[in-house]
Amino acid sequence: ILEVKHLKKSFGDLHVLKDISFDLNAGEVLSIIGPSGSGKSTLLRCLTQLETFEAGEVRVDGKDMVVPGSCIGGKIKYAPAKTLRDIRLSTGLVFQNFNLFPHLTVLQNLTLAPIRVLHDSREDARALARFLLKQMGLEGKEKSYPCELSGGQQQRVSIARALALKPKILFFDEPTSALDPELTGEVLKIIKKLAEDRMTMVIVTHEMAFARDVANKVMFMDQGVVVEQGTPDFVFNQSQNKRLSSFLERFS
Ligand code: ATP
Ligand code: MG
Repeated sequence: ILEVKHLKKSFGDLHVLKDISFDLNAGEVLSIIGPSGSGKSTLLRCLTQLETFEAGEVRVDGKDMVVPGSCIGGKIKYAPAKTLRDIRLSTGLVFQNFNLFPHLTVLQNLTLAPIRVLHDSREDARALARFLLKQMGLEGKEKSYPCELSGGQQQRVSIARALALKPKILFFDEPTSALDPELTGEVLKIIKKLAEDRMTMVIVTHEMAFARDVANKVMFMDQGVVVEQGTPDFVFNQSQNKRLSSFLERFS
């Protein structure tokens, strides 16, 4: 459902993503781990169209973000706007800092985009929002404002908000790193539940046990390259890679 080939991205002289390739099947979960500054957030931002990139191919659910072959030896040529929009709508992103609309209630946070962007009816949008809030263990919070919720609750609302747009792939950028440790578990539990329900997800995280347990595949990035990728067992137990083992030592 997601194919990334030879993706490259720089900020000026800084080559942040050097040659990233990986793929993911529908219903699978990929965990991305790696030190600070290795390019993990930038990669998610490129895949969700918050950043442009200079070279590479990205295919989401059979649709090419870049005209195939267009970046060989020249400038990259993006797909037509309609295709980019379709691709954008098939992906969702959950941020570290929740990014909820502070002046809207929980229910309004969940229904705004489905009504405006997907042109869902108000009734359908509300019905889906209520279903998702229940799934997230947030019944009774519909009329609350984000500031009235705990961090863990806010993050569960933002996961529900992303799901309300019915994405085919959900991306998470350190979904628990802004949370107190005692609130982290409730968010990780929700993500694990989504994985059991076969939601396709790409998760950047510093929670190593979670990265290992939730994923079908794990990717270790360092300095803009994929140093190692494979099954959780391979990456966490079998790989002999020096950079990976010294990174993992910091968490043990
Ligand atoms: P962390 O674990 O700390 O979140 P990361 O792996 O997500 O790190 P990125 O945020 O992708 O790393 O950053 C990779 C590199 O790109 C860093 O050196 C960062 O300073 C640089 N960078 C990121 N965004 C920009 C930007 N908008 N302009 C210039 N440089 C940037
Ligand atoms: Mg980051």
